[in-house]
Amino acid sequence: MTAYAFPPPERASLAIKGSDARFPLRRIFCVGRNYEAHAIEMGNDPSREPPFFFTKPADAALDTPCTIPYPTLTENLHYEIELIIAIGKGGANIAEADVMEHVWGASVGIDLTRRDLQNEAKKMGRPWDWGKAFDQSAPIAPIVPIAEVPSVESARIWLAVNGVTKQDADLADLIWSVREHVSILSQSMTLAPGDIIMTGTPAGVGAIVAGDVVTGGVDGIGTIEVTIGPRS
Ligand code: MN
Repeated sequence: MTAYAFPPPERASLAIKGSDARFPLRRIFCVGRNYEAHAIEMGNDPSREPPFFFTKPADAALDTPCTIPYPTLTENLHYEIELIIAIGKGGANIAEADVMEHVWGASVGIDLTRRDLQNEAKKMGRPWDWGKAFDQSAPIAPIVPIAEVPSVESARIWLAVNGVTKQDADLADLIWSVREHVSILSQSMTLAPGDIIMTGTPAGVGAIVAGDVVTGGVDGIGTIEVTIGPRS
């Protein structure tokens, strides 16, 4: 047994659909600009440049449904609905053909973003962490074991605010498919069990405020509901 100076924080984890066991989290990787129409709406060239990644801390994740206080430091909180891929078997330099052997499950989550801080960071050439990696910035629905997932390559992905549809696309629109971006990610970092990937958001992102109820889903995988509470 390792002797720690004080008790280490409990490992972050997520609910698993149909199970009392929990999915132990290690890292949260996020893919930037992975749908053409979203790249265009953010003012970027959607050409197939190599995918890029950013991260959130594992303890930014939380189970849903939930209420999240409107975060500090921002006046422009955005929703981004995303397919979640959960890694169960680690590896480096994973071939595209082998990627699904490493995938434990899939889910749907929201990449909450302090857009004003992210835009400022972009302008200044600074890291995105203050825009992306804040407390409770990754609400995620229960993880679905991959054997119960019909497809991570083609399914409707959608999000609504107070019942009004804002994002509506298909996983087939991903610029870099799950097999492709997980393979590429594994060339940069050795993936480990418990890593999850937020795979990018389609077009239609926008601001939410205290009192808004955000719903969304990926057909065949699950649905998510998040209420935005008063400023913390
Ligand atoms: Mn995102």
